[in-house]
Amino acid sequence: MSRATTATIHVDALRHNLAQVRALAPHSRVMAVVKADGYGHGLERVAHALEGADAFGVAALSDAERLRAAGLSQRIVLLSGFDEPADLAQLRRLGVDTVVHHESQLAMLEADASAEPIRVWLKFDTGMHRLGFAPTRAGEIHARLRALQNVDAELTLMTHFASSDEFGGGQTREQIIGFGEATAALGGAVSLSNSAAVLGWPDAHRDWLRAGGALYGLSVVAGKTGADFGLKPAMTLSTRIIAINRVARGERIGYSATWQCPEDMDVGVAAIGYGDGYPRAAPAGTPVLVNGVRVPVIGRVSMDLMTLDLRGLSDVAVGDPVTLWGPDLPVEQVAEAAGTISYELTCSITRRVRFVEA
Ligand SMILES: *Cc1c(COP(=O)(O)O)cnc(C)c1O
Repeated sequence: MSRATTATIHVDALRHNLAQVRALAPHSRVMAVVKADGYGHGLERVAHALEGADAFGVAALSDAERLRAAGLSQRIVLLSGFDEPADLAQLRRLGVDTVVHHESQLAMLEADASAEPIRVWLKFDTGMHRLGFAPTRAGEIHARLRALQNVDAELTLMTHFASSDEFGGGQTREQIIGFGEATAALGGAVSLSNSAAVLGWPDAHRDWLRAGGALYGLSVVAGKTGADFGLKPAMTLSTRIIAINRVARGERIGYSATWQCPEDMDVGVAAIGYGDGYPRAAPAGTPVLVNGVRVPVIGRVSMDLMTLDLRGLSDVAVGDPVTLWGPDLPVEQVAEAAGTISYELTCSITRRVRFVEA
């Protein structure tokens, strides 16, 4: 039998989530962010499921290449922008829009000999302090781009929120106001919102949403799962029990012997570990489902295997199904236990995991 570790991608959930995002922001166009192999769900699979999106957002030109090779003809936006002059030819060949966020990119455009226009999303840094021009330079940068023959006259203006998952929080309010003041005199479509802002900041919806996590059914809002916003998880991660062992009271389980049996008990071994992308940081007590019932991880997660406390189950056998996350066990809860966010977990699934669609 082949290894049972499987990531099932729920294509209908992806479609449902796009419809839900549209329902939440009916006046905005939707850029489906598919970077990092569609948040680990598979780039081409996700893009085909989300063909109804108005654009795709990627972090690498190689992803844009894959989308075009897969026959996707939507707008594609290179979210981190281009790195070197040779990238400009690739953008033109693939018909890809680029973010421009830095002086170095502006200089490359100004030195570029081609007259074939490239579509630009001009990014301002309103408080995230990662990518973007200072808002104080908005007029100057905008004018320099508008002066270029090789830049399409239709600029889209954007910024990125640092803490839009805190609904009503002051930083996002300040970023919205700062962006408005900096760009008041400039024309063009506006894009502010990531998923959290789609869910919690209606006045930031504007012309273009840039939604990633929400489309995969994921929430980054503390204490909330995607389901709390009407979203459906797009991934189930599952495996099987490959051993059940009776272990005596006082014995300790796994590497570094971190967990001690409080009584004679059945310990289940499931065929999944950090070599599959399940987080090694998940401590004892992290929930998994065995036959649909919640049981805790015990001991250290190892590369290929994890150990489970089966005391809560009466009828369990080798071969029984184990769910690590999915519609019945929110990945957000697993992420919380492991000290991370759901996005990191879905992005971390490795190549040895079998992907299937359902
Ligand atoms: C990743 C990314 C997004 C999407 O963020 P989500 O929280 O997944 O919706 C939006 N905009 C930019 C610039 C990004 O890099």
